[in-house]
Amino acid sequence: MGSPQVRPVIGVLALQGAFAAHERALASVGAATRQVRTPGDLAAVEALVMPGGESTTMARLLHTSGLFTPLAARLAEGMPVFGTCAGMILLATEVLDGRADQHGFAAVDIAVRRNGYGRQIDSFEADIEVVGLETPFHAVFIRAPKVERAGSAVTVLAEHEGVPVLARQGAITVASFHPELTPDPRLHGLFVTDNDLTK
Ligand code: GLN
Repeated sequence: MGSPQVRPVIGVLALQGAFAAHERALASVGAATRQVRTPGDLAAVEALVMPGGESTTMARLLHTSGLFTPLAARLAEGMPVFGTCAGMILLATEVLDGRADQHGFAAVDIAVRRNGYGRQIDSFEADIEVVGLETPFHAVFIRAPKVERAGSAVTVLAEHEGVPVLARQGAITVASFHPELTPDPRLHGLFVTDNDLTK
């Protein structure tokens, strides 16, 4: 008899925003999850989802919770991270139309414009072709950041009208849309399998 299999725990940053739906999506692909609110929570996880929400608020809460510095260190060590919408903004090297005091992790070499799709179309949905998926993914964009530049270290995994909307650099995946808001967990599944978090 072998010892029970211990699955890697995937954290979901739960300071603010759309974290509960990410937990459901991860659970549906068989991942073990934990809400991350403190440095102790972060130390207990092997990977992290940074959800959508409000990036300025999230940046402030990352500092007041004491998570900013340990999370920057884990990113530098190569922890797998999936950042969606506000999470993408927090991971970008360059934020256009951000607040002057909005400090992020500069972990993915992209320039993103906050609310870059314009105020008239706060939200829209589109079917996008994703590298690694056989059929299109229905993507929900909500006051989404628009990628205006992607560096050579960045692999674009999906575009919408010629603009990158899903990209990867090393162990970090970023999406400008909300993959947790549709009942299609394939992107969470790719995050788990691509980063070998299924053991
Ligand atoms: N516009 C938001 C921001 O700047 C992001 C929107 C979202 O995460 N749905 O943080």
